[in-house]
Amino acid sequence: MFRMLVLLLLSAIAMPAIADNGSAPGSPSTSGQPKVAFAIIRTAELSVTEALVYSGGSFTRKVSNNFSAFLVKHGTDTLLFDAGLGSKVADQYRQDMPWWQSLFFKYENPVDPVIDQLLRAGMEPVQTIILSHSHWDHASGISDFPNATVLVHPAELSVIRRPTAGVGGSWPSQVSAQSIKWKSLAFEPVSYKGFANSRDLYGDGTVVLVPLLGHTPGSIGMFISVDSGAQYFLVGDAVWNAKALKLGSPKFWAARWLVDGDIEQTQDAVDQIRALAGRHPDIVVVPAHDGPVQTSLGYFPAWVE
Ligand SMILES: [Zn+2]
Repeated sequence: MFRMLVLLLLSAIAMPAIADNGSAPGSPSTSGQPKVAFAIIRTAELSVTEALVYSGGSFTRKVSNNFSAFLVKHGTDTLLFDAGLGSKVADQYRQDMPWWQSLFFKYENPVDPVIDQLLRAGMEPVQTIILSHSHWDHASGISDFPNATVLVHPAELSVIRRPTAGVGGSWPSQVSAQSIKWKSLAFEPVSYKGFANSRDLYGDGTVVLVPLLGHTPGSIGMFISVDSGAQYFLVGDAVWNAKALKLGSPKFWAARWLVDGDIEQTQDAVDQIRALAGRHPDIVVVPAHDGPVQTSLGYFPAWVE
């Protein structure tokens, strides 16, 4: 109870600071609308044996694995962090998932692509997509946003330009189209919460990207400070599961071998996230696939604000 009171007090203190940082003088009022918020758009889910998710997990317990995208709202701007499974995922999967990997890496229907969910909610297609990395289950939905600019870490462009099939690659069926407007994200040597480099997307400290290299050469994470003052850290696939993060457990050995481009560097990224979680227990770490963490926050059209 005491801890709860302290948290309430802290968030009450933090709130005006966020509001002050967020509203530029003379900017139009957005009362009633969240200024900075995000929504989790779950495009599909799959029940997976816990032991296949992280080393030391149970062979009898199942965990819910989400295929999610994150809709980020900043004032009148919206963007996607990851694109989830898109409307063409069946064809992409048939083309680029080798049969032996399809025994372990699946998705299940129904798939509810981001574009369909946005249109149902009366929203416009987004014009900006930022990828935590370019693996199949994060990049599939790009093709549903033909007008969007897709931003990635500079190092991720190197794998995108040499696409390969399989779970550890960036799929030709998803990233090869000449029409995709790729853009490299510049990171600055400005430290942020223990990360040496960062990119403050709107210049007000509310949405900050940091490199989490290893899982792929250009994996990144996103910090978001929402209107309430609460802060979230979207960590992509650096770690699949909050429980594994708490234990410091790496992914299941075979999964690690197949999907983590650089296993040691991935572990360094996990250690950095763990250290951050130790220093800032108030920051909620949200792995891209962790069903229980995401369910506790709620799904689009609900906002985390
Ligand atoms: Zn991945």
